[in-house]
Amino acid sequence: MLRRLLLQAPTSCRRLSNAYRYSAPSHSPRFFSSSSSSQSPNSSFIEHVEDNANHSTSPPSATFRGGPISIAEYMEEVLTNPKAGFYINRDVFGAEGDFITSPEVSQMFGEMVGVWAMCLWEQMGQPNKVNLVELGPGRGTLMVDLLRGASKFKNFTESLQIHMVECSPTLQKLQHSNLKCKDEDNTDDKDNKRSVSTLTGTPVTWHAALEQVPSGLPTIIIAHEFYDALPVHQFQKASRGWCEKMVDVAEDSSFRFVLSPQPTPATLFLMKRCKWAATEEIAKLDHIEVCPKAMELTQTIANRISSDGGGALIIDYGLNGVVADSLQAIRKHKFVDILDNPGSADLSAYVDFASIRHSAEEASGDVSVHGPMTQSQFLGSLGINFRVDALLQNCTDDQAESLRTGYWRLVGEGEAPFWEGPDEEAPIGMGTRYLAMAIVNKRQGVPVPFQ
Ligand code: SAH
Repeated sequence: MLRRLLLQAPTSCRRLSNAYRYSAPSHSPRFFSSSSSSQSPNSSFIEHVEDNANHSTSPPSATFRGGPISIAEYMEEVLTNPKAGFYINRDVFGAEGDFITSPEVSQMFGEMVGVWAMCLWEQMGQPNKVNLVELGPGRGTLMVDLLRGASKFKNFTESLQIHMVECSPTLQKLQHSNLKCKDEDNTDDKDNKRSVSTLTGTPVTWHAALEQVPSGLPTIIIAHEFYDALPVHQFQKASRGWCEKMVDVAEDSSFRFVLSPQPTPATLFLMKRCKWAATEEIAKLDHIEVCPKAMELTQTIANRISSDGGGALIIDYGLNGVVADSLQAIRKHKFVDILDNPGSADLSAYVDFASIRHSAEEASGDVSVHGPMTQSQFLGSLGINFRVDALLQNCTDDQAESLRTGYWRLVGEGEAPFWEGPDEEAPIGMGTRYLAMAIVNKRQGVPVPFQ
């Protein structure tokens, strides 16, 4: 089946642009920051709350309640505030948007994720009804390519009930249109309106959170570049111990970072994260990021998979260990200051895959966690090389160039050696920066290609 899938389906030409959301070491966000203190690693730029005696006389922020807020609260507001959040009102992807993601780089990405989902479905015993859930589907491109790539495997596509977990009404509409959905007339429940994708005749429903996806069916969950958008708390080692970094309003009404004068509620999550790490790992760090929302989401995923069967695939950029200081802002394909013009730039942080593993294992003894492995290993083991060769057999010269650069971006490392165009447009490989991890019900055995 894997082979058949890799050899069929037509080629589509994708427009390419350059900025992904991970930052390569030499392009670390802190070097891209402006002269503002917001991204400086130098703690002397960060003021302490108690130094700010006139804090109560500072002008109130128009956007937030008074007093410093955690970076996690700031990040959540900036990204998903229902009125002004970065994702809420516009399409932020691609050359015209702010950044590019793997599904937008090449059709092969969604097709390979489809191969993974079909293999898991086979390991699950080919159930005739399955919830296929995508968390944060962006433009819906991954799902479109998955369905188109899998469309010949009727038993699989006919089993699917698709659930898109998306907070942005604008992106929900875009997903609806890209999946070529038709709404069903007979549904009374406006909040859970059911549509059918005419690509494969598959029912599609939208939800604001995973908890709202009905349980009771075996479930396959896909989270591509979703975890990196979840809000992180940042801690910094000071003479009095670990302090949480907060966002405050300065005298001139601009935002600035301050350190919390005493332990904050998120310190509990810092302690939890540190318990999962070796003492030496923590000892060498003076910054630590923790993402309680990622821990909670992973627990929800693990519990769902434990009760309903199935598995989850998480692909993102990040580390298999404690993340120090990775929060970054991108606007129009350029790194910008985190505090500049909130809501107009994407904020994202490295994903702590080790924390995901611990959260899943802590939540349920019925699930097993596999990986992370690099995106290059993941796509290579699923057969992307055969797929690109098959597509190259039957395409125009332009499509061939787009396929080759797309392939490099997905699996390569560094600048593409074959590139002859301008240096600044050289395709940069995402193959080792992005990692893939699977959480599956132990009944399914070890998922492809983690054996
Ligand atoms: N997976 C897509 C998009 C990644 S960007 C791709 O790879 O192209 C993150 C996506 O998650 C966007 O669709 C954004 O609107 C959505 N999102 C971010 N935070 C969310 C939240 N808290 N709840 C639901 N969706 C969220």
